[in-house]
Amino acid sequence: MLPSLRETVDYYGLMANRALGQNFLLDSNITDKIIRLSLGRQNIADFNNYNIIEVGPGPGGLTRSILANNPHSLSVIEMDERCIKIMEDLRNETNCPMKIINGDALTYNLPEISASPRQIISNLPYNVSVPLLLKWLLQAKEYSAMTLMFQKEVADRIMAPTHCKDYGRVSIIAQLTCKVEKLMDLNPECFTPAPKIWSSVLLFRPLENAISAEDIAKIEKITALAFGQRRKMLRQSLKMLPDIASKLEQLNISATSRPEELTPQQFYALAQLF
Ligand code: SAM
Repeated sequence: MLPSLRETVDYYGLMANRALGQNFLLDSNITDKIIRLSLGRQNIADFNNYNIIEVGPGPGGLTRSILANNPHSLSVIEMDERCIKIMEDLRNETNCPMKIINGDALTYNLPEISASPRQIISNLPYNVSVPLLLKWLLQAKEYSAMTLMFQKEVADRIMAPTHCKDYGRVSIIAQLTCKVEKLMDLNPECFTPAPKIWSSVLLFRPLENAISAEDIAKIEKITALAFGQRRKMLRQSLKMLPDIASKLEQLNISATSRPEELTPQQFYALAQLF
């Protein structure tokens, strides 16, 4: 029988390490709710048909809620080796095939770890959440779904619509590759230790016409220039790009627009001309 999550944390003396972005979810009502909302929005009863990858399982609260929903297999990648023994204890108690990796998720190509159809679930370490997301969006179609927790401010940027102050590079790439939906907001008291900020859980599902990694690279070049000087008009911020005035005109985009006025699809169309 598994000890409670708090007993596990006490037994292993698992003090949260700030450098690893550790804010733990120790309340199973919350972790169960995250999984329930994700399953509900995907319209599936459990994870029976999916291989799940969890990044940063920590003491294993979310991991326990995933395992309770019958995944075909579970792979976990955790940088903190103190948590590996905890994962081994979980593996001893479950019938689900579990792969445990002690390493940096940024250095792994997840499709090599886990077979398709696969889903990623993570309460992301906040210090690497955007680099991890951008890496996975480059290969969005490899994942049936991603259920990911971010700082609320980052989630707001991801979901921001055109004309919004939070709209930018990450919103454009996310919205050109995935349908993104908010599942819930969590207040700081849900975590141990409590961070200063709220968090949000988002569900990403790949669009059928998700753009390719090559197109993402082209768009990244343009958005870096445009949002690097987001107050400036496009004719100024993009002036280094060859024939930019005629290309904007060809797409019926005013050269006096500012970057937040262009939809993700307009950035995509512009990138196609280079
Ligand atoms: N899933 C646990 C929970 O919800 O209580 C812990 C979440 S905590 C916000 C993030 C976890 O990611 C920590 O356990 C941390 O050690 C781990 N982590 C940090 N950077 C990582 C990286 N680059 N690769 C894999 N795991 C990482």
